[in-house]
Amino acid sequence: MRYNTNWSEAKAVVTCPYCGSTDTEPFSLFGQQLLTMQYYCNACRTPFERIKDDDVLDDYAARKEEQA
Ligand SMILES: [Zn+2]
Repeated sequence: MRYNTNWSEAKAVVTCPYCGSTDTEPFSLFGQQLLTMQYYCNACRTPFERIKDDDVLDDYAARKEEQA
């Protein structure tokens, strides 16, 4: 279960979609869907979700193709 130890991804800079601040922090590894993470913006105090669309899914797809 690599999900529980993958917090390094969460430390990447995330820009708040509401105010554009980078003063954000993850507060839940999973949002309402498995492919989203919940973040909290310290600047405007608004929680938001971000889709885990970058390296995680690319890496997963690559591994799957190698095994096929
Ligand atoms: Zn904000």
